[in-house]
Amino acid sequence: MPLVSMRQLLDEAAKGGYGVGAFNVNNMEQIQAIMEAARETKSPAIVQASRGARSYTNDRFLYHLMLAAAELYPEIPMVLHQDHGNSPATCRSAIEMGFTSVMMDGSLMPDGKTPSTFEYNVQATREVVEMAHEKGITVEGELGTLGGIEDGHGAGVDPLSHLTNPDQAVEFVGRTGIDALAVAIGTSHGAYKFSKKPTGQTLVMERIIEIHKKLPHTHLVMHGSSSVPQDLQDIINKYGGKMRQTYGVPIEEIQLGIKNGVRKINVDTDNRMAMTGAIRKVFVEKPEAFDPRDYMKPAREAMKEVVKARMIAFGQAGHAGDYTPFSLEEVARRYKQ
Ligand SMILES: [Zn+2]
Repeated sequence: MPLVSMRQLLDEAAKGGYGVGAFNVNNMEQIQAIMEAARETKSPAIVQASRGARSYTNDRFLYHLMLAAAELYPEIPMVLHQDHGNSPATCRSAIEMGFTSVMMDGSLMPDGKTPSTFEYNVQATREVVEMAHEKGITVEGELGTLGGIEDGHGAGVDPLSHLTNPDQAVEFVGRTGIDALAVAIGTSHGAYKFSKKPTGQTLVMERIIEIHKKLPHTHLVMHGSSSVPQDLQDIINKYGGKMRQTYGVPIEEIQLGIKNGVRKINVDTDNRMAMTGAIRKVFVEKPEAFDPRDYMKPAREAMKEVVKARMIAFGQAGHAGDYTPFSLEEVARRYKQ
């Protein structure tokens, strides 16, 4: 199956009342882990690459790995999404490379650090929507600013200082025409989200409910939504790692979001931790091993298990075959109407 429109995938998720995990990749093993998890759970898949991933992998390697995945897993509708495009130029290059969805994160200036103005955000995002929809490509925007820094992108601000304003969200969606909106509700990128189990004061799920009431037809996106499970922290630390105690976004809070319009859930840290823990374990238990496959295989397996668990928890499992994907030309025609 060719790469498909994220808009259609999320429209279907809305109809079915489920969410879809969006998992970041940097190499072949991570793509394989996601695709195997999708096959075993019969799930649609969103594979995403940050700017950092695109430069680490090189665009051409990344794109051809995705074509291989599409060829080998014909039953899985899959999207290749640009995570946190910092400028219209970045989004344009992703579209030219074959991505079927892009995020224009105009909540920050192109340096990926400085919070922008609302007007800048509207203008940059609108520009991307115009160029993308013409080709049937989906656009995600962001309003409000997340905490933490991921792959060099992020303001590193206090996550509670720039929550998404629901009235502004209505204006933003109306003026830009985006398909999906990333909301800031107190989450951060990276592993260190919360120093204790989050409460309604630190993870403001109430905000999602308010935004969804005002924008019932806009797909909402939760960023920084790794759960940072205790068992993955423990494995890393048991085998010589030094992660300090931290808390992520509990699965039940994500499920509450899914009941209230969240359709895309970004998960990266949990997969990184699963791979690192598995590799550390091999290094400690088999110090004589030196074939990279000895540790990459268990790493890939560990990531697959995390992705499978998320696919089941978000409700996307079993939905891969529900619909026939439109061609991007057909999606472009629908945007025109
Ligand atoms: Zn993000």
